Amino acid sequence: MRKGKRIHSFILYSILFALFMGLGLPTVVQASESNAKKGTAQNPYIITTDITYPPFEFQNDKKEYVGIDADIINAIAKDQGFEIEFRPLNFSAGLQALEANQVDGMISAMSINPEREESFDFSDPYYEAGTVMAISENNKEIQSYDDLNGKTVAVKVGTTGATFVEKLQEKYSIKVNQFEDSATMYQDVVSGHSDAVFDDYPVMAYAIQQGLKLQLPLEPEKGDVYGFAVNKGQNAELLDMFNTGLANIKEDGTYDNIIDQYLDSDEKGSQNGFFALIQKNWRELLNGLSKTLLLTVISFAIALLFGVVLGFFAASPYAILRGISRLYVTIMRGLPMLVLAFFIYFSIPELLNIKLTAFIAGVATLTLSSAAYISEQVRGGIEAVSGGQLEAARSLGMSYGKSMVRVVIPQAIKIMIPSLINQFVITLKDTSILSIIGIVELTQAGKIIIARTYSSGSMWIIIGLIYILIITFLTWLSTFIERKMINA
Ligand code: GLN
Repeated sequence: MRKGKRIHSFILYSILFALFMGLGLPTVVQASESNAKKGTAQNPYIITTDITYPPFEFQNDKKEYVGIDADIINAIAKDQGFEIEFRPLNFSAGLQALEANQVDGMISAMSINPEREESFDFSDPYYEAGTVMAISENNKEIQSYDDLNGKTVAVKVGTTGATFVEKLQEKYSIKVNQFEDSATMYQDVVSGHSDAVFDDYPVMAYAIQQGLKLQLPLEPEKGDVYGFAVNKGQNAELLDMFNTGLANIKEDGTYDNIIDQYLDSDEKGSQNGFFALIQKNWRELLNGLSKTLLLTVISFAIALLFGVVLGFFAASPYAILRGISRLYVTIMRGLPMLVLAFFIYFSIPELLNIKLTAFIAGVATLTLSSAAYISEQVRGGIEAVSGGQLEAARSLGMSYGKSMVRVVIPQAIKIMIPSLINQFVITLKDTSILSIIGIVELTQAGKIIIARTYSSGSMWIIIGLIYILIITFLTWLSTFIERKMINA
């Protein structure tokens, strides 16, 4: 009887814990973020930036955010005496984060245009750029937009380059490949999948100077300027400080120094070989890997707890508990993880008017999704033994709880272990999806290095090898533990 009670309290505590994770944490985050004055060290302005966009924003090998945009806003923050914290997100996710008030401002080589001015307030323009077309170094066929008829073009989601190609599509038959970051989109042309790419002139010119095998057959389009953006009607004070600070750093020469530092150097980037890439970037890769493991372990531990509870619900004699479990599994199984991640990171904060860190949103995504699969494995394990065994135990006079604890669960655990190990590996691999909300786990670390070094080819081999090595090691470790447990 006491064991039966213990199970009930275990279930109760687990539900309370899950509720705390689901509702409690965001409230804590909200409380801590909204009380203090903004722009202080305790409550810095959160600024999103696309850290795969050199020379405007990228991460150097010391893991610092640098580039024209990053240096400009840092100089302005110093001049005006406010504190900022960067939230790295790709361009289209950055736009969403700003719209959902997940961040206070966006500096991301962002062009000011009338459509965006409907949703955002822009600073004074701080840089003049322009969309340009690039083609492969040895392509002689494409010399004008007319030559794009029947060709494939790479663009980045949500950018002015993509909008420009949409306009060209009204005139020509062009197939479009969409990408989330510039380095991958350039690589698509270098490796011959796309015939041309459209992006901002300074960024593309810089990449070519660094050794990227593309060329620019045409002059850039005119009339494009960059601005710092805040959400419409929000953070007016920040926008004012940006404008005043911008005028100041232009006057005292800081602005020109920043631009010269990135654009006036003739220094050619060195192309890195496979081993040089590992040697130069192993620290970043290791940091990414530890984030991947941390996300996996935390999420899997909570998901295990939550999944076991739901699994017991699913195998319980009570229809209402079975119904709750089935509903949960149906929803989670039906949702692609990417959609779930965006929902948690963008929609929930907007609906509840709170702020969530990317890490908490990431853990919540992995936990909620894995819990559904774990609960199915737990249900499967219990059902595989429960039938006759449960009846036999009950006919010996044991209660339901006691029969489960003494007879069913020990056998079910042995059945469940291999699929739980499998789920652990899946959870680890799923962490790579979270790069989309800006978490710098292993995949995102790879993207950041590629953006800086233009080395997609070798880098993805390195990243792939690290995943295979770590997963093989963990699988070996868990099989070892499993054997020990079964023999025990
Ligand atoms: N300037 C372009 C735009 O605003 C591209 C920006 C970017 O890719 N970060 O759409």
